[in-house]
Amino acid sequence: MVVGLGPGDRSYSAPAAITAIETADVIVGYKTYLNLIEDLLVNKEVISSGMRKEIDRAKAAADLASEGKCVAVVSSGDPGVYGMAGIVLELVEEQYNDKNIEVEVIPGITAATAAAAALGAPLMHDFAVISLSDLLTPWTKIMTRIEAAGLGDFIVVLYNPKSHGRPNHINTAREIFLWHKDPMTPVGIVRNAKRGEEEVIITNLKEMLNHPIDMLTTVVIGNSQTKIINGKMVTPRGYQL
Ligand code: SAH
Repeated sequence: MVVGLGPGDRSYSAPAAITAIETADVIVGYKTYLNLIEDLLVNKEVISSGMRKEIDRAKAAADLASEGKCVAVVSSGDPGVYGMAGIVLELVEEQYNDKNIEVEVIPGITAATAAAAALGAPLMHDFAVISLSDLLTPWTKIMTRIEAAGLGDFIVVLYNPKSHGRPNHINTAREIFLWHKDPMTPVGIVRNAKRGEEEVIITNLKEMLNHPIDMLTTVVIGNSQTKIINGKMVTPRGYQL
């Protein structure tokens, strides 16, 4: 099972995700996420690994499943959104197809919708999700997608907006958005959505870089209709009230 834990607080994990973890013989995950479910790990075999060890984690899970164990690989948010679901399915198909392993993906609340809820209702119209991490995607392709999303007047949700290794991608992304979006376009910055210490900032494209942005942050950039209503970021769906 590839299980999404949701954004953080337990009340935002699906009951099906908790049942999956309770049912599993072995839990595999990145250390930080395992800390979120420490109380559920009593009497379980636990395999924890560091960041960027996705292949090792998927292999460990597939090896244990080959032995007949019920394994839960945990991801934060939704495991099918920049999470572990894809790599587990690819690996099982390519290297374990004689082992009869069944893979089930259990969804979770992803950062985009957790952040949207904290901001108000910014994703009421077509939106695009773009990760600014160029670890697995060439930066030129990311820039092309940023421009296409701006040109298409999509609301854009940025995952992995900034890290020490690439502090300037967010600045470049903002510049590209400004080719097609008004500087006053509302921008929401949400840190630790639906976790203790949630921080919510509503600003605009012009001012957004005056606020702290890091890897625990999701950035939502409005479309041409997005506005601030009573301190909330809202993209009207188009209803005549
Ligand atoms: N599978 C995860 C995304 C992993 S990519 C999901 O579906 O949510 C990691 C990025 O997700 C972070 O850099 C950040 O941009 C975003 N993120 C994850 N959890 C978050 C949270 N609770 N609050 C704000 N952003 C979050």
